[in-house]
Amino acid sequence: MIVEKFGGTSVATGERMANVAHLVARSAQQTGATPVVVVSAMAGVTDRLRHAARTAASGDARTYGLIRDELQLRHDQAINDCVTDVDHARGLRAEVSALLQDFEHLCASIHTLGELTPRGMDAVSGLGERLSARLVAAALRSQGYSSQMVEATGLLVTNNHFGNATPLLEETTRRVKEVLLPLLERGTIPVVTGFIGATRDGATTTLGRGSSDLTAAILGRTLPADQVWIWTDVNGVMTADPNIVPDAATMPSISYSEVAELSFFGAKVLHPLSIQPLVDPGIPLRVLNSLNPDHPGTLITGAITNGMLIKGITAIRDLSIITVQGHGMQGVPGVAARVFSAVAHSGTSVLMITQSSSEQSICFVVHTQDAAAVAEQVEEDLAHEISRGQIDGVTVQDQVAIVAVVGAGMRGQPGIASQVFGALAEHNISVISIAQGSSEYNLSLVLSHGDVNNGVRAIHDRFGLGRSHGNSPREM
Ligand code: ASP
Ligand code: MG
Repeated sequence: MIVEKFGGTSVATGERMANVAHLVARSAQQTGATPVVVVSAMAGVTDRLRHAARTAASGDARTYGLIRDELQLRHDQAINDCVTDVDHARGLRAEVSALLQDFEHLCASIHTLGELTPRGMDAVSGLGERLSARLVAAALRSQGYSSQMVEATGLLVTNNHFGNATPLLEETTRRVKEVLLPLLERGTIPVVTGFIGATRDGATTTLGRGSSDLTAAILGRTLPADQVWIWTDVNGVMTADPNIVPDAATMPSISYSEVAELSFFGAKVLHPLSIQPLVDPGIPLRVLNSLNPDHPGTLITGAITNGMLIKGITAIRDLSIITVQGHGMQGVPGVAARVFSAVAHSGTSVLMITQSSSEQSICFVVHTQDAAAVAEQVEEDLAHEISRGQIDGVTVQDQVAIVAVVGAGMRGQPGIASQVFGALAEHNISVISIAQGSSEYNLSLVLSHGDVNNGVRAIHDRFGLGRSHGNSPREM
């Protein structure tokens, strides 16, 4: 049995929803088992919902009404394009209206209060999936299959960390089995809302932006499924962003740990946490293209396959590098601990850390939006050291990016770093800072923004990752 998840672009219109129904039917035929379907909101809908909530909170009484109308129109249009039965379509339009009315009421109370809590935001944000799942289930029924929409608020029990909730595995497993297995036994295809869950007392939560992948992985683990398929709008996991590297190729296969590194460092194809539930039970994950369904995509398993030294290159932008510098830091224990407890104090997570062995400086990288607050907190917490001259000061350099070079084949292989630096040097690109995880799966470089595209292309080319080098044996 498989769990298959369709992302926002795969359900962006009624026509695409009809295509989803077609792909689901095809997979059921291929596997001989009833699949579980997970869907995202129609592309862009989550952003619009969130915009409505924010504008309502800031005193704007008009925008959320306009967004309601816009969403009504968009979903009605989709119903016209994927639901054939007239009565069925009418009933569905009424359901959409009712949900959008709830949305309007929520926004009205946010407007009255003038305050948007994370809990309120989750109640609003999750509406897109509640709408799209109803439509996809209807599209399946229109094509003659038995299907039922299932709200994940009754499946995924989470903690109450609104906006970024974590599912509680034991309780979730019990509910998933209770609700989904009887449907599957009857041959009814469940269409589950991605992205959302609920606390023990029933308040809607979300698992973080882009987390419908995680919903699919959690269902895959708890059912358990034989495979999880993530349908997106590109041909699997690519060796680099094809917008930057036109020669980028699909990876036929990659291991859990490698793809986790890639996703964390900006490859947008998978939510970074979505691998984790599948690692222990060893459930394979497949990334497929709903707009090109015959392409074999990428298979992700625990096995480290393929002789390539490097699998892929990715970049995260809009970062800042913060440097804490001082001659007096040398040999003084506890300075790093003080620096990072100040960072933790500011509530920020750090993407990369380096310290040279001379101990004259500690550098770390954070998102630019957090940089000022972090620097201030470090200065405040280390004011004593600064006044004594042990630390000269804290500097912030914006406009940098981390380029991550990922591949399990790098492990224990001498000379990889020198090839990476050689490729960059040939293009006159200087490296601001370097870190390598002890797994040796990831070599991370800080480059300035202006150098990122050239740098990624240079490394991609040096390691022969492109299609023109024949690195895509299964590409069709
Ligand atoms: N619709 C949600 C978002 O835009 C979840 C998802 O698409 O995975 O973040
Ligand atoms: Mg996604």
